[in-house]
Amino acid sequence: MEPYLTDAHRAFRAEIRDFAETRIAPVARELDEEARFPWDNVREMADRGWFGIDVPEEYGGLGRDHPSYVIAIEELARIDASHAITVSAHTTLGASPIIQFGTAEQRQRYVPLLAAGKVLGGFGLTEPAAGSDAAATQTTAIRENGHYRLNGNKIFITHAGVGEVFVVTAVTDRARGTGGITSFIVTKETTDRAEADRVGVGHAPELEPFMQGVRAGNKEDKMGWRASDTRELILEDVEVPVENRLGDEGRGFSNFMKTLDAGRIGVGALSLGLAQGALDTASAFVQRREQFGRPLSRFQGIQFQLADMATRIQAARHLVYHAAWLKQAGRPFRTEAAMAKLYASDAAMEITTRGVQLLGGYGYTTDYPVERHMRDAKICQIGEGTNEIQRMVIARNLFDQALDGR
Ligand SMILES: Cc1cc2nc3c(=O)[nH]c(=O)nc-3n(C[C@H](O)[C@H](O)[C@H](O)COP(=O)(O)OP(=O)(O)OC[C@H]3O[C@@H](n4cnc5c(N)ncnc54)[C@H](O)[C@@H]3O)c2cc1C
Repeated sequence: MEPYLTDAHRAFRAEIRDFAETRIAPVARELDEEARFPWDNVREMADRGWFGIDVPEEYGGLGRDHPSYVIAIEELARIDASHAITVSAHTTLGASPIIQFGTAEQRQRYVPLLAAGKVLGGFGLTEPAAGSDAAATQTTAIRENGHYRLNGNKIFITHAGVGEVFVVTAVTDRARGTGGITSFIVTKETTDRAEADRVGVGHAPELEPFMQGVRAGNKEDKMGWRASDTRELILEDVEVPVENRLGDEGRGFSNFMKTLDAGRIGVGALSLGLAQGALDTASAFVQRREQFGRPLSRFQGIQFQLADMATRIQAARHLVYHAAWLKQAGRPFRTEAAMAKLYASDAAMEITTRGVQLLGGYGYTTDYPVERHMRDAKICQIGEGTNEIQRMVIARNLFDQALDGR
């Protein structure tokens, strides 16, 4: 799409698309049914460097730009959203805060392992009493001799089971509100050690000894993203060395909100891929399926639906690529990321649901991927800030602009 993409982007898209169609498509349905983490493909994607697409080469990443990463998430999600969120949550939520806010030592210790996909990373913000109101964090970090003692429960954490490196928030000074929330890097051993050993990624002996008291809870049984790992991350009397504090004391909330801004571009791209996947399936189906003596695609009522779907996808793509372009250019992108996530995820929900409808009874079976795309789309309206929260972010910016007299 002009003006955002170069020939290099298009070549990268072709590479990801080929992998998604040949390696992911054949196993996506089974992984979804069994709610099984895609370890074999994680290994393949790690070998290709896709766990560090926009990570600088000095830390072992591919050193590509942010739009390249966005294209990768879109193309993976076009075939399977669980693979896409595995790369996305790891990259934007797990690794990027360490790159952006970490010390040189923290970056050297953790980022090469993450960028190579040798271990999976995650982001622990949500808690039982702190969802949309993320500032209501109850997890505490008490400073003692040479370390902080962390206690609390993070819920719905992507990779809490399979991952080994996490950034988490905890309250260091309750009196200071959001200014009293600090972030930390914690480690634990993967819960899938046998699988990690089998495929050769997912466990890093270099991280041993892992921190005592960090452990994963039960795996969530989810409507969608079923091959992605989502669990509680429990922090029980964890002694986190001071050198594992991520950023200054009191900067955790603000830094995590910045991380979520970037994450929302990723969820926008993932939504875009889901919508495109549903359109592709529906478009092929209606050209094959005959009723009333002709292919469904000959009916104007069907054509109009496909045209509306394609138009919404194009609008979503502009929003997502524009937000990615702003980020790449080092310009503010909070509002644009919120708009991209809001619009693309609402579009994905509508388009995947229409996709099921266009396939009739076949759409309601697991013979076609559209029902999975529809289930996978729902969480895009909820995760990384619900769409109601995106509307708040966008509205707040409107009011700020009014105050500025812009
Ligand atoms: C599969 C999955 C993966 C996830 N991965 C992660 C992860 O890796 N790390 C992490 O930290 N979190 C993760 N989450 C958590 C996710 O970010 C939260 O679920 C989300 O932010 C919403 O919080 P909540 O579930 O507590 O809902 P609530 O905040 O309780 O919201 C419930 C409803 O009320 C609405 N609402 C809330 N406040 C308002 C308001 N002021 N005005 C209007 N409406 C409002 C919400 O929009 C929503 O519709 C994940 C969740 C899932 C399901």
